[in-house]
Amino acid sequence: MAAFAPSAAVFATAVRTAPAACGARSSAFVGAVTPAGARLPAAAPRSSAPRMAAEVDFDAVGERFAAEGKSPVEVIDYALETFPGEVAIAFSGAEDVVLVEYAHRTGKPFRVFALDTGRLHAETYKFFAKVEKHYGIRIEYTFPDSGEVEALVNEKGMFSFYEDGHQECCRARKVRPLRKKLGTLKAWITGQRKDQSPGTRTAVPVVQLDPAFKGIGDSTLIKFNPLSDVSSEQVWATIRMTEVPYNELHNQGYISIGCEPCTRPVLPNQHEREGRWWWEEATQKECGLHKGNLSDEAGAAQAADDLVADALSGASVVVFSKTSCKFCTATKDLLTKMDVPFTDINAEILKNSADVRAALERKTGQTTVPNIFIGGRHIGGNAELQAASQSGALVEMLASVGISVPQPSAK
Ligand code: SF4
Repeated sequence: MAAFAPSAAVFATAVRTAPAACGARSSAFVGAVTPAGARLPAAAPRSSAPRMAAEVDFDAVGERFAAEGKSPVEVIDYALETFPGEVAIAFSGAEDVVLVEYAHRTGKPFRVFALDTGRLHAETYKFFAKVEKHYGIRIEYTFPDSGEVEALVNEKGMFSFYEDGHQECCRARKVRPLRKKLGTLKAWITGQRKDQSPGTRTAVPVVQLDPAFKGIGDSTLIKFNPLSDVSSEQVWATIRMTEVPYNELHNQGYISIGCEPCTRPVLPNQHEREGRWWWEEATQKECGLHKGNLSDEAGAAQAADDLVADALSGASVVVFSKTSCKFCTATKDLLTKMDVPFTDINAEILKNSADVRAALERKTGQTTVPNIFIGGRHIGGNAELQAASQSGALVEMLASVGISVPQPSAK
């Protein structure tokens, strides 16, 4: 086996090893199936990828790739050449192992990352290790914020997602860690396919400007979906023919694999996504990692929900207000007078102001501003805050989130 020499100067962690680890299998690669059913070339052709990624119109590139029927290997080769060291494959621990295989075939260095939500199957962890060994790579694991998960579980228990939906848990265990990881990259490569999810993945482009996440320094992030036009059948033909490792759960009837409590096997002829979040509406089954796939309306609502949730998790006292609102001014005056640090979000000047107001209404049932939260708990509007101040309850609420203010003197 050739030496594996990760370059710490270039990549923080994982890069692929030299191909010798898989050399014995290379003849099998020739038979792998492309989306069009054609045979793959023995090795990726030299890419004519441009050197200056910033100058490229990636939407146009995506359209061109689709028109030309580029194979997944060619798409990945382009991504690796265009963003050397700054693009990574998102590996879920399921059949998207073919992405790793295709990246390996390009002969270029590549990075792979995975989100360890803390709730994966033991088989998935073993599969990660197998893939690392098979390709001689180290996967870059990304973990949730322990404080955030601790707060969620301690407040709502281990299985709150069965009661109030998977979004909150997914946000803490998947979306935020992913956002953090993507903030270190310029592009990412996903295993999304059009045939995976009814309603949410029927329009997955091969290349796109990521509609939901940002890259390094808040820059535009490029998202490559090389398997967009590949069917499940074709993916499995590739896995079988190339003899790459796969997750043992697939032998037990699992197709789409995520976290253990939210994944179950499916029966013959059941759609694969029926094994994920089966207690929820089929057309909204995205965990947030690919929320740009949701219909514009649903995507906007989710983005607004996320904005509200992010604001609440970022500060102990949050006031959603609007300009020229005397009640908002009274609320802020009171908090300022009490020397209470608070975050003021002027919902009116936000680009998605209407969506945020709708998100607040969904969360609290309140249609007016100010909308006040202490420690993530909804307090109400200005009238409730003033009443709490007069009764002394406000001091206790603030103390519960570590903000100490004197009790107002009784007169
Ligand atoms: S898939 Fe389930 S356990 Fe995993 S992060 Fe989402 S809700 Fe939580």
